[in-house]
Amino acid sequence: MTAFPQYARVIIDRAIHRELDYLIPEGLRERVSIGSRLRVPFRDKSALGTVVQVLDETTAQGLRPIEAVVGEVPILSPALLELGQWMSTYYCCPIEIVIRSLLPQVVRKGEVGWKKQLFVQPAAAVAPDQLESLRRRAPRQAELLEVALKLSAPVLAAELLRKTSLDNQTLRALQKRGLIEVKEAAVTRDPHANEEFIQTATLELNPEQIAALKAVEDALHEPETARPILLHGVTGSGKTEIYLQGIRRALDQGKTAIVLVPEISLTPQTVERFKGRFAEDPDQVAVLHSHLSEGERHDEWHKINSGRARIVIGARSAVFAPLKNLGLIVVDEEHETTYKQEEAPRYHARDVAIVRAKLEKCVVLLGSATPSLESYYNASKGRYLLSQLPQRVDQCRMPLIRIVDLRLEGRKEKSMIILSEKLRAAIDSRLEKKEQTILFLNRRGFSTSLLCRNCGEARDCPNCSVALTFHRDLNRLSCHLCGHTAAVPKKCPDCGQDALIYSGFGTEKVESTVSAVFPHAVVRRMDADSMTRKESYRDVLRSFRSGKIDILVGTQMIAKGLHFPNVTLVGIINADLALHMPDFRAGERTFQLLTQVAGRAGRGETSGEVFVQTFTPFSPSIQFARHHDFAGYFQQELEFREKCDFPPSNHAVLMTVRSSHEQKAQFSAETLHRRLKENLGDEFVTGEATPAPLKKLQGQYRFHILLRGQAIVRLSRKVRETLDKLPFPDDVIVTVDVDPYQLL
Ligand code: ADP
Ligand code: ZN
Repeated sequence: MTAFPQYARVIIDRAIHRELDYLIPEGLRERVSIGSRLRVPFRDKSALGTVVQVLDETTAQGLRPIEAVVGEVPILSPALLELGQWMSTYYCCPIEIVIRSLLPQVVRKGEVGWKKQLFVQPAAAVAPDQLESLRRRAPRQAELLEVALKLSAPVLAAELLRKTSLDNQTLRALQKRGLIEVKEAAVTRDPHANEEFIQTATLELNPEQIAALKAVEDALHEPETARPILLHGVTGSGKTEIYLQGIRRALDQGKTAIVLVPEISLTPQTVERFKGRFAEDPDQVAVLHSHLSEGERHDEWHKINSGRARIVIGARSAVFAPLKNLGLIVVDEEHETTYKQEEAPRYHARDVAIVRAKLEKCVVLLGSATPSLESYYNASKGRYLLSQLPQRVDQCRMPLIRIVDLRLEGRKEKSMIILSEKLRAAIDSRLEKKEQTILFLNRRGFSTSLLCRNCGEARDCPNCSVALTFHRDLNRLSCHLCGHTAAVPKKCPDCGQDALIYSGFGTEKVESTVSAVFPHAVVRRMDADSMTRKESYRDVLRSFRSGKIDILVGTQMIAKGLHFPNVTLVGIINADLALHMPDFRAGERTFQLLTQVAGRAGRGETSGEVFVQTFTPFSPSIQFARHHDFAGYFQQELEFREKCDFPPSNHAVLMTVRSSHEQKAQFSAETLHRRLKENLGDEFVTGEATPAPLKKLQGQYRFHILLRGQAIVRLSRKVRETLDKLPFPDDVIVTVDVDPYQLL
């Protein structure tokens, strides 16, 4: 007789910072294992929880029994739970909160189930004379039965009735006679059910690609000892083909694969590329993204958990996809900051992928045209294997990058420059040749501030320490941080003078300027303001692709992953925006942005041209990007980072103390700083408590403490210890961000 465990150790979904033991009643024992979801009594209510351990004995007294098992199967594997424990320690975050992010809400809550529908099939034995006699007595029933008899498999009742134009009553009457069977069965809500995917052929690889694929194959043969692979390949070098063929090899070994892509590149074309290559069985590819309905998400997730799906493609949280027998995790565009979650647990999906791969003995492949300093550093130290694709597949030359020095232009023209003379001439020549242009500016709105010429005051957000942006489409001022909007005042509310002027510009103004300068061109704008409807994004891209739009103006929405063969010109309206952020990654972001945006130009027959407008033409990020020199850029940036103890050679931890009371926030931050300094000692750098660059956000005053050091796990533990011992007032909130990306 096999004994089933008697006790379960459970983490409930609330933040109580400890595990609880429960008794498993006799009848439920065989249904409980690690990862099972339970309903358990907690205080005088009940709560949902996850089993993290099953026990045959416990020293705890007076245990209460669990109330119920939720769902049919365990929803967390031991491997994923172990990953969760690691995240809890590394990211200094309670395990309950980590577990919450390991599972989609719809799965955790267990409230949405499978969609059930009625299916019809003929009863086992229907004699021919039965049909005959029915024809006389009930012709409509006979008609339905006749159709049903021809079925080789059960069909949806609704479908059958629609096709025969008969009603439910007829169906029920037939069922009563025992001539047909009507059964309920689960159907999947597949967001791609009505699409057809045409199988694409495996491409013949060029020599560099062969070498890159070989690295993946070698790793797949010895996953226990394989290092993560960093695939550094310029835009258009055929990285995706390596992912596709690598996944094929993993499937051939009977294994499964995850592909992570930034949410913004999870477009229908991306999904099609993967579903198409594995179209011999489209159901084996599951897609997880934020536009799924709750039902679709439930079904995709269970399709993965049950082993039906073998490839998962998704954004950040797909790194937790419950695939078993994982062979390969691909992280495309590994440098993308959207892999970092900006709420607890503040994890980075690339780093979690690397740890998951280590725990489950699988291979990780990171790909990018502009690897993050962190990953390239790891490769330079031999921790990752570096694999390179330096050429574009189509032999097309890299675009020519021209720098426009706005300081010189400024002397000629008094007003702010949106289009320099050079860029204007370049657009003109594209219009003549019927080629397309993309203009990029990473700032929405019409004017970025409304100033008073008399008293010098700007209209600031009442909740945040930033100026309000003027949106001409809405004719309102709006805060890009908290969403606050306000009417545009006629006179200065501070001094009462009629002296308000607009200054600074965003995409809305670029669009209107360009339309005015080129009245015959079709100009469209693509940013969060103009793309409020889901379809409009697709519509604009489609018209752009088909050549109906001459000039596309947009924010980072258009900077990534889009392929437009007829775009031969890209203009970067102001390259300095990212550069002047108070953030040690400002230079890296500028370099990445220029390189990525430049990658949009000249993917067809003609090579492209990029105009970069800047007031700081000699800044290294701009110069290295201009020469397509990643290695050179890396060297100089690394020197700068090392001089300041910044990542990648060190880890950073950013602590934020915030409160709606400025003094309380400041006082708490200073106290915290003193305690940290005592606890961390000399091994770590403990920065001062300083007002955050964004001093006020959504009505909260914010202070920062930046910690740095090599031994990140020890640092995280010490931070947790310090926090646990330090009581903060109720209205003061302290957050910990390990490996932060958001320093404002
Ligand atoms: P990346 O992901 O590096 O930007 P892609 O994988 O999108 O590049 O490749 C760019 C284009 O080149 C795609 O249209 C792809 O189908 C094509 N391509 C990739 N590898 C090959 C190859 N070996 N032979 C021919 N075409 C290829
Ligand atoms: Zn605001």
